Amino acid sequence: MSVIINDTCITCDACLQQCPVNAIVDDLSNPLGKKQYYVQPDKCVECVGIYDDPQCAAICPSIGCITWDIPFSAEFNDHFCNETLYKLGTTKEGILKSPSYKAKSYRKDIPLSDRGVGKQVQEAPEELHEVG
Ligand code: SF4
Ligand code: SF4
Repeated sequence: MSVIINDTCITCDACLQQCPVNAIVDDLSNPLGKKQYYVQPDKCVECVGIYDDPQCAAICPSIGCITWDIPFSAEFNDHFCNETLYKLGTTKEGILKSPSYKAKSYRKDIPLSDRGVGKQVQEAPEELHEVG
């Protein structure tokens, strides 16, 4: 991944419509059986080369619901294969679509220290301060 959806998802469907690579599935298709939408890490490209920022987070009404995850790169193959946060797909031949099989693009400007720690992709709007 990329980005990850947490349990504050209100299943509004906005992100699914917005994803340019069809990486998101709804709660009924969530491979983990949770009642929330799910980003397929082996498909998400963090909107690199398509938009300036992740469109799912830009449209999500539940601020903080979508957070930065570890890059889907070979370096983190074990993480994606072993963590119960994910359920990776397989090819027709039954090969696991792990980062080693096929890595995905990710935003290099987001430091590793901000990934996998629940840091939200879309910051909450700054509070309005009264003037005067
Ligand atoms: S970051 Fe972009 S590619 Fe990834 S799930 Fe969100 S909209 Fe789709
Ligand atoms: S836009 Fe946000 S709240 Fe709506 S389905 Fe997607 S992750 Fe859930």
